[in-house]
Amino acid sequence: MEIYLDNCATTRVCPEAAEAAMNAMVRDYGNPSSLHKKGLDAEHILTAARKEAAALLGCAYDCVYFTGGATDSNNIAIQGALAARPRAGKTIVTTTVEHSSVGATITAMEKRGYTVKRVAPRADGHFDPYDFLDAVDEDTVLLSMMMVNNEMGTILPYDKVIPAVKKRFPELITHIDGVQGFTKIPLSVERLGVDLFSFSGHKLYAPKGVGGLYIRKGVRILPVEYGGGQEKNLHSGTEAVPMIAGMGAAFSMIRKNQAAIARNYRELNAQLRARMAEIPGVVINSPADGCPHLLNISVPGVPSEIMLHALEEKEIYVSSGSACSKGAQSSTLAAFHLPLERVRSALRISFSRETTAEQIDCFADALREVTEKLRKVVGVD
Ligand code: PMP
Repeated sequence: MEIYLDNCATTRVCPEAAEAAMNAMVRDYGNPSSLHKKGLDAEHILTAARKEAAALLGCAYDCVYFTGGATDSNNIAIQGALAARPRAGKTIVTTTVEHSSVGATITAMEKRGYTVKRVAPRADGHFDPYDFLDAVDEDTVLLSMMMVNNEMGTILPYDKVIPAVKKRFPELITHIDGVQGFTKIPLSVERLGVDLFSFSGHKLYAPKGVGGLYIRKGVRILPVEYGGGQEKNLHSGTEAVPMIAGMGAAFSMIRKNQAAIARNYRELNAQLRARMAEIPGVVINSPADGCPHLLNISVPGVPSEIMLHALEEKEIYVSSGSACSKGAQSSTLAAFHLPLERVRSALRISFSRETTAEQIDCFADALREVTEKLRKVVGVD
């Protein structure tokens, strides 16, 4: 039986989301821009989903904009915020461990003339909030940081940094890539005071190709592409009603089960840590206080890809680094100061609401077996 432990890459769509998406395709298939009843029905689906997202974000529903996923949200947030502030400062503050949808967008802005300061984790792998406060100044137009790192599970100190930065520089735009922390860590974007917050549907039991962006009331963003003016001009094109309906239903399911899902992650994480500690040669890379839905480990001497495919033969699916880097050696793990041998042999195990204790035991047994075999083959004692 297959054991899927790569839920940070993507999750299986939950039945509620699949049903909602299907209904929006075959029953409520109108275009939300149409003035007749079919259009209105589709518009109602969008509003209901917006309210579901807003309930989890802790904001008013008209602050939620639907996008084609978090990559889209991050581009709209960063490029749109800068485009709306041509006369503001020219410095962007970010981190060395961002997902490429933020990292590459900011590098593109750097090529257009912005100065970029990238805050790095300290030697222990944690970020110091004061390093962000030291990096921002009068010339800073944008601070963009992730909520939870997608490879390590490290929780960034956004809850300290954002309020402190906004207090000192109220005009400075703050953006959080919330993909890996959203719904997993209690959140109210309004209370936090962040200006922009990106999230993705497919990491949260919704279909792929849909996500959203929270924009604080009064924060101006210019569109990065033009068309029919949907989503108040920020994401033109006929709305992906089936995907959005699916995301709304998935968010509703999460909201009803949030405490139980969180408990499951914590228990699985503790169990997996204990099992990994029993296997000689396995080291845990994730911090003890990381987000519990993922655990990054290494088996020094056994390259990630070899281990990944050996586990795959047992129908166990894990990740080497992040799915987006397609097997490329992780620059993020190196940025967290992991030694090269650990980077080369890193595996990311990530849970969903459906992951069970039995599955973790099966994975641990398989990892022990494969480790013993492979370490003999590659000659590591
Ligand atoms: N940011 C982070 C932290 C992510 O983990 C991902 C997905 N790997 C993204 C952004 C991109 O999300 P999407 O696939 O919805 O574009």
